[in-house]
Order: sequence, then C-alpha cells, then structure tokens
Amino acid sequence: MSKPTQPSEIAREVLRQLAMRRTLPTPDNYLALYHEIAGTVAQDIFPEKAIKSLATALPRKTAEQSRFARQIEVAAADKSWEALKGALLAFSTASAAEPPQWSVLLRDLMLQLERNQAGMTPVKKREAIERVIQASSSPDLLFSRMQSLLNSWSQGQGTEADQAMVEAEAATAPKHGSKPQQTGTAAPASTLTNAAPGGLNAELQELIAQLLENSVEILLVDTPDLAGEATRLAADIRAIRSPAAVAEFTARMKKFSYRLQFVTEDQAELKKALLHLLHLIIENISELALDDQWMHGQIALVLDLFQQPLSLRQLDDVERRMKEVIYKQSALKSQLQEAQNRLKAMLASFVDRLADFSESTSGYHDKIESCAEKISKASNISELSNVLDEVMHETRLVQLNAQRSRDEMQAMRLRVDESEKEVTRLQGELAQASEMVRHDPLTGALNRKGLDEVLERELAQAQRHDSTLCIALLDIDNFKKLNDTHGHQVGDDALVHLARVTRETIRPQDSLARYGGEEFIILLPDTSLNEAVLAVARLQRELTRKFFMNKNEKLLITFSAGVAEKGRDEPSEEVIKRADAAMYLAKRSGKNRVLPA
Ligand code: GH3
Ligand code: MG
Ligand code: MG
Repeated sequence: MSKPTQPSEIAREVLRQLAMRRTLPTPDNYLALYHEIAGTVAQDIFPEKAIKSLATALPRKTAEQSRFARQIEVAAADKSWEALKGALLAFSTASAAEPPQWSVLLRDLMLQLERNQAGMTPVKKREAIERVIQASSSPDLLFSRMQSLLNSWSQGQGTEADQAMVEAEAATAPKHGSKPQQTGTAAPASTLTNAAPGGLNAELQELIAQLLENSVEILLVDTPDLAGEATRLAADIRAIRSPAAVAEFTARMKKFSYRLQFVTEDQAELKKALLHLLHLIIENISELALDDQWMHGQIALVLDLFQQPLSLRQLDDVERRMKEVIYKQSALKSQLQEAQNRLKAMLASFVDRLADFSESTSGYHDKIESCAEKISKASNISELSNVLDEVMHETRLVQLNAQRSRDEMQAMRLRVDESEKEVTRLQGELAQASEMVRHDPLTGALNRKGLDEVLERELAQAQRHDSTLCIALLDIDNFKKLNDTHGHQVGDDALVHLARVTRETIRPQDSLARYGGEEFIILLPDTSLNEAVLAVARLQRELTRKFFMNKNEKLLITFSAGVAEKGRDEPSEEVIKRADAAMYLAKRSGKNRVLPA
C-alpha cells in the first residue's frame, strides 16, 4: 500500500494503526502516530498570547505577586517553557514570611534596565534608581521601593510622571516623619507596593474612601453638611493623581477630622443625656405606679437595662419580652372590658325588673281598694262572692308575679357574682402578665431573669437567718433523641410535663427555673444537702409514676442532676458551677441519677 499523503488519508490510517496496535486513542498518542505516518516532526507551539493575557490578569497587590506576574510576562515574551516553569516553581514554594529576595529583585532590575519601555531610556531608569537608593533609609524600605519602581516600569506605567510619583513618595516620606522611618524600623514590604498614581497605596486609598462612605457618612446623619463633605472626600481620594492632590486632600482631611471629633463628642454627650432622661422618667413612673401591679415587670426590666452597658442584643431581648407582655395585657384588657360591660347590663335589667314589680304591686293595691269598696256596697251574697273571686284572682296573680321576680332576681344575683369573679380573675391575670417578664413562656418556670431575682432574695434570706440553701441543676437525659424520634413539638410538651410534675412535687417555698434548653434549676431554701438530694430523687420517682403521654404512648422522662449546698459567703454562680459539675458526673456515671456536689 502506498504511503498516504492527504491529511484525510493519514487520519484514517492513524485510526487504523491505533486499533491494530491496541494503543489508547488519546490526543498525544494520536498526534505522535500522525507525525510518524506523515513523516513529519511534531512542533511545540508556545501559546504566547494566552500566557500574556494570563499574566495581565494576575493580581499585583504584594511584592511577591508583582514579581510573579512580571516573571510570567518575561517568560511569555521569550516564549520560554523553562522560564514559565521556573516562575511557577518559585511562586509555589515562596512563602509570605520569607525575607526579601534581593537576588530575584536584582535579576529583575537588570532585565528591566535593558528592556525598551515607552518614554523610559536606560539613563533615566538609572537616575531613578539612584534617587530611590538615596531616599531610602533602611534595606527593607529600599527593597519595597525598588519593587514599586520595577512595578511601574513593568506595568507599562514607566512614563516619567509615574516614575516621578514613586520617587516623590520615596523623597517625601522621611519629611512626613512617620515613626518607622525615624526610628529606623522598616515599613512592611507591602505598604508601598501597589502604588496608585499620586504615590498613595491604592488599596489604602480605596479603604479610606469606603470608610468615609460606608461608616463615617452613616454616623453623620444628623449633620448633613459634614456627611456631604465625607462623600466628597471619598470621591476625591479615589481621583488623586498627583502629589499636589495628596497635599490638598491631606489638608481637607485634617479639617474634616477636627470637625468630626466635635460631632462625635456631641453625639456621645447626647446619648448620655438621653439615657439619663429615660432613667429619670422610668424612676418617676415606678414611684407613681407603686400600686399598679400591671406595670411592675416592665419597669423592672427597663431599670435593669441601666445596670449594664447598652448592647443591641440586650435591647432586642427586652423588646421581645415587652412585646409578649403588651400582647397578653391588651388581650386581657379587652376581655376585662367585656366582662365589666356584661355586669353593667345585668344590673340595668335588674333595676328594670324591680320597677316592673313595684308597678304591678301598686296596680294590685288599686284593685284591692276598689274590691273593698265593692264589698262594703255589696247587697247580697252572690255579689260578695264575685268580688271575693276577683280578690282571689288578683292576689294569685300578684303572688305569681312576686315568685317569678324572686326567681329572676336570684338567677341574676348568681350571674352578677360570676361576673364579679371574672373581673377579679382578669385583673389578677393582668398583674400576672406583667410578671411574665420573669417567666419562661413555654413551661411557666422562672426564666434566667426571674431566677436571678429569686436567687438574690433567697441568698440574702439565708445569709440573714444563717440558714441553708441548696441548688439542684437538672438536665434531661437523651433529650435530643426524644426530639429526633418524636419531633420538636413533643419535645416541648415533655418540657412542659417535667415542669408541671416538678411544681407538683416540690414545696411551695421551693422555686423552679428553666436554666437553658432542657436544663432546670430548683432552689430549695432552708434545706440540707441530704434533704435536697432526697427531694430531687423523689421527683425522679414521681416521673416514673406520672408518665409523659405522647398520643397513646407512655414516654419515660429521666434526668441527671447535681445538687450543691451554698457555702458561707459563696456567690451563687459558684454554687451553680458546683451543681453543674456534679450533674456532669451523674451523666458520665450512667445518667438518671442525682449526685451531691
Ligand atoms: P444528655 O443525655 O447527655 O443530656 O443528652 P441530650 O440529648 O439530652 O443533650 P444534648 O445537649 O445533646 O441535646 C439537647 C437537646 O435539647 C438539643 C436541643 O435541640 C434540644 N432543645 C433545647 N431546647 C429545646 C426546646 O425548647 N424545645 C425542644 N423541643 N428541644 C430543645
Ligand atoms: Mg443539656
Ligand atoms: Mg440533656
């Protein structure tokens, strides 16, 4: 068979040979066989354009990055795979913490000196290097400035103006008297790289612009003229193109920061004064509303706010709890209003009934009087008998009427009593709603705030009477599993169940608080450690009798607990900590047990 010469024949033959030689049809194998059959030599084509565009896209924010990008550019210009490989290897092994690589910089410098760049002759480049050397007081500074200079050349910004900016920065920096230079401390290498036209670091320039726009402007909502100046400064710093513009901007910035200082001092004073005013108002209300139980909880909550530095999280928490109380109280208030209206309506109809009754009795009196007259005038028995029938009839009527009125009045009296009770109950609930800020809405147990208050009271009491106080910390066992198996709602119901059984089991003087998700605290005043452990163990037993029912399924809730007795002068957090440690010990030793601390 003659040697194929046409590309299509060669291609067909390549495929045939690949199959015959059982060679994998990869692009490389195909290419090698193609050249073998065609009798040609494979040419290595260097993707110069693609590598150049890659180099352009590389970041140049640090000295390291700029050097790397430059090396890639040089490799592309020289169409050298070797140079490309060298650059990639050097970059991948280089670390940011490495000392300045003088050898690399010098090699770059020599390369760049000889390279032709628009508007830059080798003589001018040498002069620029000379000036940078003279103006740099430390080796590190010299390294980073040289890097910047090389950068400006290699990025094609090697015009005289740009170069002058790098040099100007080198020359003016010592005059600004920045501390690192005066004390001989080197500025970090990155501070002077990525220089923007104007000699400022471009990243810093953008950061200052963003600071002015995003933060300072918002702080200045009450002083629109200053806010406007912040906006203008942000725009102007981005547009800085010359050292003269830097000087002008610095002067404006000084003025701005001077005015800003006054405004922020004013704002701080204003905040202090407003808080003081709020405090005064709340204290005043709390004195006026001494008897108004509906307000106690809310007032205590706001007064508490002043005890610590304000934080948004705390304000959110107070607002959420206030909203709960306001919602509950407004619902209760409308119910109370309705109950009072019902009561009024009943009293009104009661009065109407009384009026009817007295009217009908006065009618009866008139009738009887006329009958008496008829009797006195009666001439025979039959006439008398008729009159008597009339008297009997009227009397029976009035009797019936009286009976009915008495029954109605009694019923009404009962209803009035009920309504009065309802009004009293609602008023009580309203006062309780105010106390809701101290309770956990799910279980009705005290919340952390409620616990803190009761703890404070009980500790003072124990101190005064030199009596004991025990704290038990309970954590439900395997609660996550209960949630996962039966759902979160059942988990919630289980928490409610545990709280209810606990309240039914502990003494009235004991308190129950929800300490966290499935953790509870029981305060047992005037109780020894031994008695407290027994009390908590009794609660464990109660839970085995009073099952938690999920639909028709009995679920056993168990908990692990630690009990600690307060030591003399021991702060409550310490007692809780010890109870917590004992609880963890109870968990580790198999759960469903109570251990003393
Ligand atoms: P351990 O026996 O070691 O205490 O294990 P545990 O599963 O009880 O404890 P863990 O701390 O691993 O999980 C507690 C779970 O309680 C995780 C959380 O989702 C759940 N939880 C916390 N608060 C609530 C709540 O208000 N309702 C419900 N349903 N679950 C809650
Ligand atoms: Mg827990
Ligand atoms: Mg648990």
